[in-house]
Amino acid sequence: METLSGVGPKVAERLEKLGLRTVRDIVEHLPRAYLDWDEAASFRDLSAGEEATVRCTLQRIRVRPTRRRNLKLVEGVVVDGAGVRETAIWFNQQYLAKLPPGTELLLHGTRELGGGFRVARHEVGAAGLHTVGLVPEYPATEDVPSYRLRALVDEALPRARFFPDPLPATLLGEERFPLRPDALRAAHRPRERAEAEAARERLAFEELLVLQLGFLHRRRALEEETSAPALGDEGDLVRRYYDALPFTLTPEQRAAIREIHQDLGRERPMQRLLQGDVGSGKTVVALYALLRSVESGHQAALMAPTETLAEQHFLTIEGICRDLRVRCELLTSSLPARQRREIRERLASGEAEIAVGTHALIQEGVQFRSLAVAVVDEQHRFGVEQRRALGRATPHVLHMTATPIPRTLAQTVYGDLDVTEIARPPRGRRPVVTRWVSHERSAEAYTRLRRHLKEGRQAYVVCPLISESETTEARAAEGEAARLRAAELRGLEVGCLHGKLPPAERRALMDAFKSRELDVLVATTVIEVGVDVPNATIMIVQEADRFGLAQLHQLRGRVGRGAEQSYCLLVSRPKEELTDDAKRRLEALVESGDGFALAEVDLELRGEGQLLGTRQSGLPDLRFASLTRDRHLIAKARRWAEDLADGEADVVDPLRREAEWVDADNRGFA
Ligand code: ADP
Ligand code: MG
Repeated sequence: METLSGVGPKVAERLEKLGLRTVRDIVEHLPRAYLDWDEAASFRDLSAGEEATVRCTLQRIRVRPTRRRNLKLVEGVVVDGAGVRETAIWFNQQYLAKLPPGTELLLHGTRELGGGFRVARHEVGAAGLHTVGLVPEYPATEDVPSYRLRALVDEALPRARFFPDPLPATLLGEERFPLRPDALRAAHRPRERAEAEAARERLAFEELLVLQLGFLHRRRALEEETSAPALGDEGDLVRRYYDALPFTLTPEQRAAIREIHQDLGRERPMQRLLQGDVGSGKTVVALYALLRSVESGHQAALMAPTETLAEQHFLTIEGICRDLRVRCELLTSSLPARQRREIRERLASGEAEIAVGTHALIQEGVQFRSLAVAVVDEQHRFGVEQRRALGRATPHVLHMTATPIPRTLAQTVYGDLDVTEIARPPRGRRPVVTRWVSHERSAEAYTRLRRHLKEGRQAYVVCPLISESETTEARAAEGEAARLRAAELRGLEVGCLHGKLPPAERRALMDAFKSRELDVLVATTVIEVGVDVPNATIMIVQEADRFGLAQLHQLRGRVGRGAEQSYCLLVSRPKEELTDDAKRRLEALVESGDGFALAEVDLELRGEGQLLGTRQSGLPDLRFASLTRDRHLIAKARRWAEDLADGEADVVDPLRREAEWVDADNRGFA
């Protein structure tokens, strides 16, 4: 780095704050925008409120204090090319006051109503730097302004041709991508904006390809060192299972089963993600995988993130297993120690064929006689760690999630998994009617709830997330249930479900609700997953604006599980008090019941960072690619990764590449 002129230890330190440590970092620090110095307007032509870019010369500049303590104005007197004088205004960028008179500036901003030009972005035309055409604007700091970075990039760019190009020539030719040094040059010094975008795409593609290759390597390594039992053809048990189902499988379920069937027939351990909305029929598919294992003489396990969900799955699975004479066990850590030990013994001997449980299944040294298939529900709640613990046993693994994300994204976020989707629920199910009710009218929501109860139905009331802590949340839920019993829900049988209840009590409560001893279940988000009471046809969500989109969609999935028309009433604070995002979330829920469509909206609102955060994906930071904007590139990168890994083509290994980078970085000017 210090081979660049003007970069000593002090500047290097400042650059480090921008994440720039090497010459390569500088060259790969792409502009976030370009200002066009040739397109510049004159102040004279601007009406109030108009946005424009103006090229001008600075006459003088000063900081002007305001009455607000943490607000400083910087005012510069500038003259544009037509000789028109104007006052340029910046907020809180006091360092600008150091600019000498005569500095050439390119200002992008808005003409203020009362006069003056409010600057949103600016570029400084420092001596020796070109100030024609498109000029890049870099992510910068006060210490290292954009024009300084421009100078550093100018100096560093010629060295880009020493850097290795990881893309093979065939790929470059077929995709018509520019060579790497050319792409870097075009990204920094484009003649046109389209050229800059094409360059960025090439760099983004490369980044995504390396990522996909990494996933592929990891998968292949896993496949090499491990193998799972290859299961034979479908047998009698699965046929009896199909016969026992009270419905026919949807085409989507059949397609999913076909894919799983192929996976299970191989020694390569299945690593598949099954995505589908709540109620789309994933469990039926999962059960197929479990039974295939059993009929081939092995065992199977299903793991759920919470005890409630594990119990729920167990009830479903056990019901079917009993008819099929398959031995099924529920193992959770809340069972008495003796019972747990007995279950462990039955799993070790192979007497028990299917185990359903929480992570207790992998934590407590559970030994299976022969585990061939594991289904992991809502894996993002299992950490990466647990997934690994499972992997070591090398059964075929099917991951399920009811918070689907768009396919291309899934291929990146869960890059080492194959992805199967169930995009449509079984036919005949009526979508839940969703209404957004403003707080002032919440009484009407409860009137409607009472109407449902009078018709023999049941209801949920969901309390807002008061706190991160389960204890305070539980207390809040209890308080709210008590309040409702005395007010809106007076005279009704009301239970209160929250995460702090001991398992036995929770089970008793759920049983009471199922058997209709309770009319209403007041609950925290613990009912988000795993509660299945078809007679519950209405849900009121209080302060719905405080929940996330995916979460509300999950909650809503608790109703609409029977033949009756169901309703979900989202009560929010007054609309004026809501943020735009909160309004968008609630509107989206009213408009759509499709989890994949809602996932798109969620992504748009929350951005990819959020998404990745919740997935604990361990993805590296991406420099060029955006997972939302570059989805077409993700798909392309995945295809190429497979082609390249299968073929003989020589792709520079990411690790070896690092060494070459360092080498290139240390070279002087050419
Ligand atoms: P998920 O696990 O995706 O939330 P489930 O497998 O629990 O969905 O299915 C939801 C409900 O739909 C269950 O009551 C199930 O019996 C029913 N179901 C599943 N597949 C079908 C089908 N093909 N036709 C009709 N009903 C189905
Ligand atoms: Mg389910």
